[in-house]
Amino acid sequence: MKSVAFDVAALIMLAVLFVTVIIRKMTKGTSNRLFLLQIVIATISTSFDIFAVTLDNYNSQNYFLLNFVHTGYLIVHNIHPFVHMLFVISLTDTWHKIFRNRAKIVLFLLPYGLDFFLLTTNPFTHLMFTVENGYTHEVLFHTLYVCIMPYIILNIVYIIQHRALLNRRKIFSLFSMTVLSFLAVLIHFFIPALLVECFAITMSLYIVSAGVLRPEDYIDSFTGLYKHSAYAHDMKRSFYNDKRVNIVMLNIGNYNTLTSMLGYDMMTDILYKIADTIGDVNKRLRGKADLYFLDRGRFRMVFGERDRDKAETAAVVLMNELKMRSHVNGLDINFTPYIVLARCPEEIESFKSLMAFGQDFHEKNHYSGQVMLASDVYDANQFAIQNDIDKIIERALDGNKFEVYYQPIYSISSGKFASAEALLRLYDEEHGFISPEILIPAAEKSGAIHKIGEFVFEEVCKFVSGDEFKKLRLDYIEVNLSVAQCMHGDLADKILSIMRKYDVSPNSINLEITETAASYSQRVMTENLNKLSRAGLTFSLDDYGTGYSNMKRVIQLPLKIVKLDKSFVDEQHNPKMWIFLQNTVKMLKDMKMEIVVEGIETQEMVDAFSNLKCDFIQGYFFSRPICKREFIEFIASSAGIALETADE
Ligand code: C2E
Ligand code: MG
Ligand code: MG
Repeated sequence: MKSVAFDVAALIMLAVLFVTVIIRKMTKGTSNRLFLLQIVIATISTSFDIFAVTLDNYNSQNYFLLNFVHTGYLIVHNIHPFVHMLFVISLTDTWHKIFRNRAKIVLFLLPYGLDFFLLTTNPFTHLMFTVENGYTHEVLFHTLYVCIMPYIILNIVYIIQHRALLNRRKIFSLFSMTVLSFLAVLIHFFIPALLVECFAITMSLYIVSAGVLRPEDYIDSFTGLYKHSAYAHDMKRSFYNDKRVNIVMLNIGNYNTLTSMLGYDMMTDILYKIADTIGDVNKRLRGKADLYFLDRGRFRMVFGERDRDKAETAAVVLMNELKMRSHVNGLDINFTPYIVLARCPEEIESFKSLMAFGQDFHEKNHYSGQVMLASDVYDANQFAIQNDIDKIIERALDGNKFEVYYQPIYSISSGKFASAEALLRLYDEEHGFISPEILIPAAEKSGAIHKIGEFVFEEVCKFVSGDEFKKLRLDYIEVNLSVAQCMHGDLADKILSIMRKYDVSPNSINLEITETAASYSQRVMTENLNKLSRAGLTFSLDDYGTGYSNMKRVIQLPLKIVKLDKSFVDEQHNPKMWIFLQNTVKMLKDMKMEIVVEGIETQEMVDAFSNLKCDFIQGYFFSRPICKREFIEFIASSAGIALETADE
């Protein structure tokens, strides 16, 4: 007697699984459908098994029925590895790899085809099994296992090959099917009365349902769109598989302002509305775009290969819908929707670049109310640098590639160059010259800024302590400090110890901190600045006028110099700006601060700011930042100092 207990348990579990899959709305998309198909197949084969075993147990003599149920069981049961393989292909979205050419399709279908043929012809050939004297395996029965073996092997190889697209949990879950089925076959082999094969498959379907198909991982519960993690996963997969997609990227430019103005609840309503609008646009175009809600007012519509041409219309329609005033809770809300249409991989070539670009393109472009093309606003080289920046910095630190350049600063009252600003320079073999505007923020993020800052400071100290510098009769060199440096507990000690090492007087160095740094009220930073100030160092406030100054902090800080940012200079023809500048200069002078004007490029500007009674001028008009050797020659020749003669 064989027991059907495991089969009955499997049947109940399959029914429960089926219901939960429906409740969890796991019915859309190929992977979900193939999973449902696996449940259906398991249910049919388990039912056949129960039926067949019961007939066997009661010694039924109805050979037609016996043949039918045993054949039915094997046909349906053996298709499982095949469907499971399709499921794995669907999860990795690599259909094209198997179904690209006919030969491969035939090869893929052949083993199961053979299995099917052997089983359907068995009633005539009696090579697999016979039912006349009870269910008995015949000579070729094991050929059936051999036929499904290719799928099991392919399955394992495929999962390993595409592991980059699957996380550890998924790989484990997918392997569970093979391992459990194998165990079941072993058990059945040694204890033929125990029918555990269907139960094993049911168990593995549970594992896959919990470990692989987790809609809660992918779907944002309140907009109903896919989540950020799903976008990242799908885009990674798309680049990995060389799929071509068109993406409509929407970032709400004034998201932060709206959130602080309207509050969380209202903003939630607004996001809800936007999600709805996107859904409508998609429906109207019959586009089968996948819709995503990332976070902070960022949405994406991804059009696959077949619907790529719909993306442009979708972008334009969406822009028009969102540009219209939106009425939320009795308020007229104006969005600033930034929409970029990106063709990948033609315009944006890598997953990392796509993610980096999508982060903040709205902050880097003017709002035009028009759909922007990625080809116009995406600078591949810049993103390549940004992607590689950590490696570039490491390479530069290892190979001593960083250099310090100097830009002369002219004193209006004395009519000569009085100081200079030290500026970091890097030439990378692969990417060429890399702007500090990219380099410094990246180094701040990675933590490399501390090493870089130390390098710059040490270079400057070496220079300042040398004989050549003394001959140039400059007052001091300005060194930039970034926010991250100022917030490091060791900063003051490091600076003072380097100065001691080179015997540099504090009068020869002036430290620049930016306005953003100055407005942070951080204990560590304040301690650093006070310690350095007590040691006799002075400070400049860099980029004055670019940020939102916390005036109280600015007044509290031990500042000697304020550097007016280039943006002031650029607007000097605006009469209001001129009045503002006059009064700013007066105020700063009354506070006994010295003023440096940055970014001066013409004689006209030099005259204008000299008349304003600013103290110092820095800009391309006098010189760009230049390397140390050129700088020494530049200052020497402008001051009529003969270096060689002085050397003797
Ligand atoms: P910053 O401190 O405001 O430096 C002035 C920037 O303006 C420099 O850009 C300089 O080349 C540029 N500049 C000077 N005169 C003119 C001009 O007449 N016209 C124009 N268009 N630009 C002018 P650079 O060297 O690209 O540096 C950019 C920023 O990177 C710096 O702004 C500074 O914040 C940061 N930085 C540079 N070197 C260092 C460093 O060693 N450490 C830290 N922490 N930051 C640095
Ligand atoms: Mg500066
Ligand atoms: Mg500046």
